[in-house]
Amino acid sequence: MAKIGSIVGSNAKIEMTPFKQLYVEVPFDRRDLIQEELERAGLEVYPAGFLTKSLIACNFCKGAEDAGLETARKLNQAIAGIETPTPLKIGYAGCALGTSEPLLKDIGVVKMKDMFDIYIGGEPKGLKTAIAQKLVSGLTEDRLVPVIRKIIDFYIANAKGKEKFRKFVERVSLEQLQQITQS
Ligand code: SF4
Repeated sequence: MAKIGSIVGSNAKIEMTPFKQLYVEVPFDRRDLIQEELERAGLEVYPAGFLTKSLIACNFCKGAEDAGLETARKLNQAIAGIETPTPLKIGYAGCALGTSEPLLKDIGVVKMKDMFDIYIGGEPKGLKTAIAQKLVSGLTEDRLVPVIRKIIDFYIANAKGKEKFRKFVERVSLEQLQQITQS
């Protein structure tokens, strides 16, 4: 935090999100320089707005290997920062305890021993909260990124305007999205 403060300066606005990511508001003319310095300090920087957010992962308490830290890193690299009709949150849990609440995310991944289950359509906010539904189970690691990219790409191509992901899932149906993951 001290390093971030020294780079962004005392006038920058910093906000901690409920999912432990930091939003930093900086002057536009210093943005690129600040981003470079943050990245040089080993931090990951993503744009804000209508994009897929960086992966909201658990704390990997079962150990890096058992909980799939490397898989989560690869998934984050593949999905963070894609332009989408509305901001998309993708969660990851290293075991079925799901302490990072993957079923309350737009897309949630749960590691089950050596396989992965994917859930879609979670909504934690507002009066119409929803628990994500299971899209697919028993995926091998190599299928994880391609399947999630297919869902994101289908959402980008077929959302009506700024249609929220949960509403999109309801409209096109879970069954159609399941077929897309198999094609
Ligand atoms: S989801 Fe599982 S592995 Fe990850 S922090 Fe929670 S209990 Fe630990």
